[in-house]
Amino acid sequence: MKLFKKATCFNISKSLPARLTACTLAAVCIAACTLAALKLSASRVGGAANAAYYAPLILVDAGHGGEDGGASGPGGLLEKELNLDIALRLRDALRLMGFRVRMTRETDVSLHTGEGKRKQSDLQTRTEAINAADVDLCVSVHQNSYAGKGVARGAQVFCAPNGERSRAFAESVRGCLAELRDENARGVKTANSSVYILYHAENPAILVECGFLSDPLDALLLSNPESRAEIAFAIAKGVAECFRADD
Ligand SMILES: [Zn+2]
Repeated sequence: MKLFKKATCFNISKSLPARLTACTLAAVCIAACTLAALKLSASRVGGAANAAYYAPLILVDAGHGGEDGGASGPGGLLEKELNLDIALRLRDALRLMGFRVRMTRETDVSLHTGEGKRKQSDLQTRTEAINAADVDLCVSVHQNSYAGKGVARGAQVFCAPNGERSRAFAESVRGCLAELRDENARGVKTANSSVYILYHAENPAILVECGFLSDPLDALLLSNPESRAEIAFAIAKGVAECFRADD
């Protein structure tokens, strides 16, 4: 069944104020469509004993945190802070659209438990959150960095190697990010064992590297709250479109 109707009012290839207006209008439009669709879903689930409101549960994972700052960029930009900012904006956009949202973190903390190998423990905590039985999809938010020669900029979406839904989810988000910038159009990559949380994901999951902190243009964009809001909304739109395409 199609959970979402097409939101034809979305057009972000305009000047910044126009884009923000378009984003706001699109959010309202998609929220209205989503809420209508979810009412259908509730009636489809139906039955006196099971008439509870149902909406897909999206896990939003803000990468790194606490003692683990992740990548860094000019002017003191820290990946963990950008990840959290975009993740919180993504949370709000998804809730506006009618999704249920769970966060792995909403403050500047590491998710390790106990002592020992803290990074491994942190990743294990996130993986367990992804694999919770009630999670429908997971989006992990990160920033990239590149130390080699040449230019590397724009977003990169990775999908978990666990089936078609992760791939479709990643393609949907990639498409929405590519509407923001041509540099975001690079192809989806299937995660290998170096991307621990995706490699061990059982539920549909993607990881979005929103840009390269090593690139001056990307760093400038990521330091702008309005650009981060656009990225978060593009990811949310990609999530909504993925459900709309679901049968
Ligand atoms: Zn990262």
